[in-house]
Amino acid sequence: MPITKEVAVFPAEMKRSAYKMVINGEPVDAAGGETFHVYNPATGEAIATVPKADYADVDRAVEAARHAFEHGKWRRYPVGKRARVLNKIASIMRSRFDALVEMEILNTGKTIETAKGQVMQAIEDFEFFAGAIVGHRGAVNHVPGQFFNYTQKEPVGVAAQIIPWNYPLMMAAWKIAPAIAAGCSVVVKPASLTPITAILLAEICHEAGVPAGVVNVITGPGAKIGSYLAKHEGVDKIAFTGETSTGKEIMANASETLKRVTLELGGKSPNLVFQDADLDAAVNGALYGIFYNTGQSCEARSRIFLQEDIYDAFMEKFVAKTKKLVLGDPFSPASHIGAIISKEQLETIHRYVEEAKQAGATIVTGGKPAKVEGFENGYWYEPTIITNVTNDSKIAQEEIFGPVVVVMPFKEEKEAVKLANATKYGLASSIWAKDQGLIKRVTDGIQAGIVMVNSPFSAFPGTPFGGYKQSGFGRELSFECLDLYSETKSVLTYAGAKPLNPFQL
Ligand code: NDP
Repeated sequence: MPITKEVAVFPAEMKRSAYKMVINGEPVDAAGGETFHVYNPATGEAIATVPKADYADVDRAVEAARHAFEHGKWRRYPVGKRARVLNKIASIMRSRFDALVEMEILNTGKTIETAKGQVMQAIEDFEFFAGAIVGHRGAVNHVPGQFFNYTQKEPVGVAAQIIPWNYPLMMAAWKIAPAIAAGCSVVVKPASLTPITAILLAEICHEAGVPAGVVNVITGPGAKIGSYLAKHEGVDKIAFTGETSTGKEIMANASETLKRVTLELGGKSPNLVFQDADLDAAVNGALYGIFYNTGQSCEARSRIFLQEDIYDAFMEKFVAKTKKLVLGDPFSPASHIGAIISKEQLETIHRYVEEAKQAGATIVTGGKPAKVEGFENGYWYEPTIITNVTNDSKIAQEEIFGPVVVVMPFKEEKEAVKLANATKYGLASSIWAKDQGLIKRVTDGIQAGIVMVNSPFSAFPGTPFGGYKQSGFGRELSFECLDLYSETKSVLTYAGAKPLNPFQL
């Protein structure tokens, strides 16, 4: 593979009927020529085709990434130069903001306001890591006498990055930005339902000056090529976001070559509302906490716990506002709730709700697929509130990944913490209260990577994002993330005047 290869010119049009993968700085088809369709879930219509990669394509992408890492110039650039390229990526994304938003909406059915926020965060991720990498450095350490020790950070190598369908561009940015900032090369495998914006992002990376082979994107079935990537000898690190069960399989596969692994997995996050909370803020926050992105969020606060005294007052407002949420044209700023990603996901959501109903739960509102005028062939589900369940029931324990929330009462602080923690997950949590002592005690007691106090927002570029327990490990979006794409080399130097003779021979 040539080292100084020029990067190909990619098509200027972002909306296309056929997309190609990006390998070694070029748009490529799968070696076998196979393709598959991607759909707009709001309408059910096919919008484009993408290549269906096989093992040979994975090998090609890993080889390009390896070559770029070992023989290319990217990781040898002065750090300020890498930072400049990251900022250039961000500025090209800003200049194509509307087109990126449009493609994200067409491929996910999410609402325009939601898509805008996520595209903006993707841009800001590159800006954050352009700044962060400049401050990412080793240390000088205390060592005995005439010794001198310093550490230096070096890129870990080739990172395979496997991402889910719920935030396609944002997740691609969360993964690519820190990895290339640290000097790694990457092979990105987007979800098969939503590959378009990851491909567009890789093209933008090249346009901004990332050398060929540093950012590669392959598309195809995760069970086959994702699994192969996780075992691949040419891959040094694997970063995965997706379901907990997939994460376990990836970790097992990665163990064969002792790859570095970071996992951002599922959640069943609690939203705790105490009796002294600002009730309106808690209601508005709870609405956003579960129904943002149509509930298809790993950090969705899908279990609401209400202190008994405010249960009725909260529910009255929460149910009334939930009924006002608008399901509709994703391109309309008036829409709050977008489509469900696929027919299969819609059926999964409904199955959970039906099973809960049969087990005696009360469906307070929602509870069935929704009919949306003008979008009859799309996949839509009513925002759903469920009560009369216990925290150990299936609907309260398993991640549904849809607009479905369970509400349960609690009596006092210790019980709230116990209920919040009684799940295998530990990703996020929200606390609504005024008593600062209580907030501190509950924060300390909660086993979750993210605690939101009087706010539903879980992440900004710079804030560590990741889970406890079976929600995974490793932190994204933050300074910590750079360490996860780096090795630390410790250099120990003798600086004494007399040569050393440890054996005294
Ligand atoms: P999946 O785990 O099914 O898929 C995620 C990615 O992994 C996709 O690219 C998929 O490819 C690929 N994949 C599937 N099987 C394998 C395999 N055996 N080996 C390697 N890769 C594989 O998750 P979803 O796409 O369904 O995403 C939803 C999940 O993601 C939810 O559980 C959610 O909680 C979690 N999530 C977690 C976040 C976090 O930060 N903690 C953030 C966002 C989502 P393909 O699409 O081709 O099947």
